[in-house]
Amino acid sequence: MIPLNQNLNTLKRSGIRLYTNLAKTVEDCVMLTLGEPDFDTPEEVKAAALTSIFQNRTHYAPNQGVELLRQEVAAFETFRGFECTPEQVLITVGATGALFTALLGILNPGEEVIIPTPAFPLYATIVTVAGGKPVLLDTKPDGFQLTADALAKAITPKTKAIVINSPNNPTGAVLSQESLAAVKAAVLGKDIFVICDNVYQGLSEEKLPDLSLDADLKPQILLCQSFSKPWAMTGWRVGYLVGEKDVMERLLLLHAAEVAAVPTFLQDACVAALATSTREMAQVYQRRREFVCRRLGQMGLSFPEPKGAFYVFADISHLGMTDEEFCTRLIKEAAVATVPGSCFDCPGYIRISYCCSDDALQKGMDRLEDFLKKLK
Ligand code: PMP
Repeated sequence: MIPLNQNLNTLKRSGIRLYTNLAKTVEDCVMLTLGEPDFDTPEEVKAAALTSIFQNRTHYAPNQGVELLRQEVAAFETFRGFECTPEQVLITVGATGALFTALLGILNPGEEVIIPTPAFPLYATIVTVAGGKPVLLDTKPDGFQLTADALAKAITPKTKAIVINSPNNPTGAVLSQESLAAVKAAVLGKDIFVICDNVYQGLSEEKLPDLSLDADLKPQILLCQSFSKPWAMTGWRVGYLVGEKDVMERLLLLHAAEVAAVPTFLQDACVAALATSTREMAQVYQRRREFVCRRLGQMGLSFPEPKGAFYVFADISHLGMTDEEFCTRLIKEAAVATVPGSCFDCPGYIRISYCCSDDALQKGMDRLEDFLKKLK
């Protein structure tokens, strides 16, 4: 093979998909692997897309995004406390596109990005592709929180950014005000970006601590957001990136070179999404979260307290096998699929997603309980 970009050499296939595919080979396997809503996209959003298509809004959109959507996003963000103007908003291909544009746009070769783990594997992938260096900061010893000490050890003169994902994938845990204060103290006024991956903020009814709302840090913040989770629109591939105006003017050029623009009719549908309440779905997630936590507690499994997203991250390290072995056996012997913590740089745990029907969840928990009893 003709040599490719050497930055791709260390990239691996997604472990999440690997276990999902294994589960598909087992009859009647309960899938607790997926990180995507089991709900359908709201009817009004689908209708808006169709109307847009029939109005022939099927040509190139502006590189930065449809003006009305940027206005609505700016209003939505300003309402929740992140004051911004439409000029600061870039409509992207999901939060994936926002993260890609942000990281590729800020990193020079060898510059470091602090990624608190457990973490969604995409961050390290993009940093690596961009020629940067992922610096993994294990939060487990500090109860899945961030401390001044841990941050001080991770920061070097080459640090260019830190990624904050709260509520977190895979734990569902939320960073405390103390953790966010520690991040602020460590980076304020330095040439370090704070990349807030807020894709799970919209799934909670509760107002959660949120570093993107810190006014002092504003010049350093790049906010990545997505329509995927709160409106069950994973397949639509629309998200956005918001940052300081001068930064966004430069990142827009990169985005224009990457994708030109997000399709117009998808953006029109997102305007309808912003006007659609996500409350009902958030309530369902909360109910399921409480159910899973109760059942895992009864099984004697511990986990960091999840307050958002749709995952619980259970500790299986005392069971005498690796998390990969556990997940493989759980699929093959009990027909329940979960994802090993190793996929998120945190071995010894399994990620349980509750994006499935109540019946499936009940069945999954019953089978997990039986499996654990058999192990004893
Ligand atoms: N960030 C996190 C933490 C995620 O879990 C995901 C998807 N699972 C994304 C970003 C990407 O989301 P999307 O590209 O669908 O908007």
